Amino acid sequence: MTEAITDTQDINTQAAAYCPVCETEVHGTVVLSYDSEVFGKRYDLLRCPECGTGICVPQLTDDDLETYYTEEEVVGAGLYEKWLKKYRYIHDWIVPFTGGRGRAAELGCNSANQLRYFHERGWDVLGFEFSKECQEYAKRVNDVEVTGTMLAQFNAEHPEQTFDLFLLIHTFEHITNPAALLADLKQALASDGLLYIEVPNVDSWSYDWLGEFDNVARLPFHSYIYTQQSLRQLLQRCGYEVVAERPYSMKEDGGLLTRSLEQSLRFRLQRRLGRNIVSRAIGTVLKWIIRFYPNRLLITKLAGQRGKSASFAILARPLPP
Ligand SMILES: [Zn+2]
Repeated sequence: MTEAITDTQDINTQAAAYCPVCETEVHGTVVLSYDSEVFGKRYDLLRCPECGTGICVPQLTDDDLETYYTEEEVVGAGLYEKWLKKYRYIHDWIVPFTGGRGRAAELGCNSANQLRYFHERGWDVLGFEFSKECQEYAKRVNDVEVTGTMLAQFNAEHPEQTFDLFLLIHTFEHITNPAALLADLKQALASDGLLYIEVPNVDSWSYDWLGEFDNVARLPFHSYIYTQQSLRQLLQRCGYEVVAERPYSMKEDGGLLTRSLEQSLRFRLQRRLGRNIVSRAIGTVLKWIIRFYPNRLLITKLAGQRGKSASFAILARPLPP
């Protein structure tokens, strides 16, 4: 876990970074700084002045990534039934754009719960995941085959195998070389295949609200945090046509946006009143107001309408070369 630091010295200073959307080195403003206990280093988040993408500086190295993701734990173990609505929410949106059942894959599939949902509805599925623990869980509990192979290597070893659908659900923001991955995905997709990318939104209210307290940024694990427009731009530049896009509904999201609001208010209260019974009591009352279902729906709806949702999804098709 990364620990947020509240040293504002580095915030609002300029730093240089490579923007994968603009394909150039940019000078942006540092909007967040984190001291990572895991890597023993400080990481900054810049916003590209051209496209608005959030960029983590420095980026994790391939070695860091391999070490970290090989040991990743299973998320959502035993929660398939409980989280069914979420899996349905993604499945039901995508399927009308596909030619019906086919072959689906997910990169960074973790427990493979989402792939199980597709599999139970007649899709052939394959997961990609480095973590041995996740691979074993996916097979044993969800009956989903998961490979630990890198996609580029898989393409080289199985040029005959293509997919009608490729899912990246909160994975793409972890990728340090997104253009190269999009090229590999293009190769792995059937000519009329679809790519579903769901990522956190750097333009969201969660970022706005949390600011320096933000743990949604998850530096340095999130290499690039896109806006809906910047991801669209990246996909188009890398030879994809955008088929559909939508803000991710908070109703199915488990309340990331509302949790951010709760946290943000709690931190601000504590800063103002100290950590005591009064700030805790006010925090609890606010929490229940925010969690009150109609209020949660309202916050979510407004966020979606204003492009401020906590995350969003884009469905794209590779264009012929
Ligand atoms: Zn940019």
